[in-house]
Amino acid sequence: MEEKIWLSSPHMGGNELSYIQSAFDENWIAPLGPNVFGFEKDLEDYLGEDSHVACLSTGTGAIHLALVLAGVQRDDEVICQTFTFCGSSNPIAYVGARPVFVDSELDTWNMCPHHLEEAIKDRIKAGKKPKAVIIVHLYGMPAKIDEITSVCKKYGIFLIEDAAEALGSTYKGRACGTFGDISILSFNGNKIITTSGGGALVCRDKATKERAIFLATQARDTAPHYQHSEIGYNYRMSNIVAGIGRGQMEILNKHVNLRRKNNDFYTEIFSNISYIEVLKEPSIDYSSNHWLSVILFEKEDKVRSRENLRIFLQNFNIESRPLWKPMHLQPIYNDEKYYGDSNSSSLFERGLCLPSGSNLTENQLDRVKKAIDNWLS
Ligand SMILES: *Cc1c(COP(=O)(O)O)cnc(C)c1O
Repeated sequence: MEEKIWLSSPHMGGNELSYIQSAFDENWIAPLGPNVFGFEKDLEDYLGEDSHVACLSTGTGAIHLALVLAGVQRDDEVICQTFTFCGSSNPIAYVGARPVFVDSELDTWNMCPHHLEEAIKDRIKAGKKPKAVIIVHLYGMPAKIDEITSVCKKYGIFLIEDAAEALGSTYKGRACGTFGDISILSFNGNKIITTSGGGALVCRDKATKERAIFLATQARDTAPHYQHSEIGYNYRMSNIVAGIGRGQMEILNKHVNLRRKNNDFYTEIFSNISYIEVLKEPSIDYSSNHWLSVILFEKEDKVRSRENLRIFLQNFNIESRPLWKPMHLQPIYNDEKYYGDSNSSSLFERGLCLPSGSNLTENQLDRVKKAIDNWLS
């Protein structure tokens, strides 16, 4: 069997080890240190828009803290894009609130602004005005940000932007991760840059960043002893892990370009196949990092189906994965409210993510192309 081709595997740039080495040399093994502050500064400079970044241990933890900072409490309701990974929605349960799931539109596959407004109106009518909205730029494709922010503004609802998959994507030239009242990033092992595991909370002012860091370091009051008047969390990123992040920031733009090239590669392969489309930006306002390249089957039959192609590729030791299963269809969320039609469930049934790493070699891309061509014929 030939070596495995992964969907998206870590791709180091080269200088990660030197940042880790300097942490060892200076004995900054203890959690915080220069790499954490350096990584935060790198991210703030990259995102622009006067962003303030607090590095955390995971993206899921960052969503949790964003909900706490938004003032979401037990029995509140939070609207969440249903077409996402569970890291977006599970933190709603951590704070004892209830998710209200909203379907996707078919241009970007992200939250539909009309169903969002429908959900807000309906919940207000029921006396349950949502406390926050969580949008996601799935697979790196920016959501319909103007429409969604204007709905949130109209009703005065806090917007949390889950940009875990979208570092390096832009909307109207502005970086994803700068559009929410609070935004979050992830540096998990399969993301566009990785620290092996990690995340960040991005906010619009210094005071919120300081409050986030306070909550992420066990909410210690100022005192010589351990003193606490609030429940805190142990969510801060370590100085070792942040060293990897600093090295990764040096090659982020290069890796975005490589992922975008992968998308061109698949667009070319499927250009003459009428029943398969590759997800592409709906207009020049959108620029996706194409974290994952994803395809959609027009109609499914026994032979021409995403499962058929997935298993075929598996036989060549090539990893692919169905599109994310919507949260409103997950057993854990069976009883939760949902607004929409069947867009996201249909995407789930008909869509497939293809190998998309920035470290795919010519040889590997060739193997993928041959396998797909083989299947197509
Ligand atoms: C990866 C991911 C998260 C969670 O990030 P972790 O760092 O793995 O906790 C949240 N939302 C989305 C959309 C993700 O892809």
